[in-house]
Amino acid sequence: MDINQHGDWASGRSVRAPRHQNSTRKLELESKLVRIAKLNHVSKPDTTTAGMIYCGRHRSRSFSHFNPLDLGLGNPYSHKRSKNCIWQVNNLDECLRCYRQWLWKLIQNEHSQEKLADWERMYLYRFLHLCSILDGVHTLVCFCVNTSHNTKNTHISCHTQILWNAAVWYVSQRL
Ligand SMILES: [Zn+2]
Repeated sequence: MDINQHGDWASGRSVRAPRHQNSTRKLELESKLVRIAKLNHVSKPDTTTAGMIYCGRHRSRSFSHFNPLDLGLGNPYSHKRSKNCIWQVNNLDECLRCYRQWLWKLIQNEHSQEKLADWERMYLYRFLHLCSILDGVHTLVCFCVNTSHNTKNTHISCHTQILWNAAVWYVSQRL
């Protein structure tokens, strides 16, 4: 699976063609630009305003291990030498690829949640909430890049871009 490919979230599944009136809305969503902002580039009060979503992990309340309840909308994988993650991987490419596969697993199991761990279910709920407010979202906050992104963008360097693509795909499927 190529991490830079967008739009194949449904690979292996048949996708029903959108009705004409919905295809405009789909195109709008797919081309909507969202700002990706580094946490230190936004003022703290801003991160709690509507439309701005913090997507980093929270500092774990456990000293001995990362507590998955502190994941927020963060990436459970990290390639950095940090204990503040659930799974360590070797490099950014792997980090993004694993995240994409894992997020896809959650979405696939939306209706068979017994296959997910409790903390994965909680992540899925956060993802579904993001989908439900997607129209009002203008900024995703993380730690890695300052950029703008939409689903046409093939240059992926932050998990928030994958998260966004997945949310756009999820909403588009239900128009
Ligand atoms: Zn990031």
